[in-house]
Amino acid sequence: MALSQEAERLEALATQIRSCVQCPLHATRTKAVPGEGAPSARVMLIGEAPGREEDQRGQPFVGAAGRFLDEMLAGSGVNRSDLFITNTVKCRPENNRPPRKREVDTCTSLYLFEQIELMNPALIMLLGSVATKKLLGVNSVHEVRGRVIEHNNRKYLAGYHPAASFYREDMAENIRQDFALLRQELQKLVPRPDAC
Ligand code: URA
Repeated sequence: MALSQEAERLEALATQIRSCVQCPLHATRTKAVPGEGAPSARVMLIGEAPGREEDQRGQPFVGAAGRFLDEMLAGSGVNRSDLFITNTVKCRPENNRPPRKREVDTCTSLYLFEQIELMNPALIMLLGSVATKKLLGVNSVHEVRGRVIEHNNRKYLAGYHPAASFYREDMAENIRQDFALLRQELQKLVPRPDAC
């Protein structure tokens, strides 16, 4: 089947991302990580930035945080195939430091905002404070977590970053709740085949 214009443009953007030199992160990356998933996915998951394994493989959330994310998705009954997964910045900051404001601004204005427009997801789930601050303009995840946020005509959920559970054990339960809410909202978007 022929790709839609949007899917073609998403692929073209991914190609651009892989050779991007617009911010200093390009100098230390191995592979840029444009994102992964069906362009037709109704939910977009946006993390912070690729880590070491993501940088090696060019895929999002395939390292330790990704394994924890998979656990959370499985536990809540959400399939990775329901999602398009990407990050606020597409290249790994050295030693996994948080991306700098200029890097975030450059990468989102060149790539993430267009990915969102092209995919036009019914729901966007933001993982962690970098994505949440940039997309919702708030100061912390805590302010907006636990409910659907409508912002600039889009619907968002904001949750803690899966890696937060590595530093604080009590976070795992919060993150489980974030994904339970995702599942709940996903069910509203995609009715079961036997529902009608
Ligand atoms: N953390 C992120 O925010 N994104 C990844 O892809 C991996 C780890």
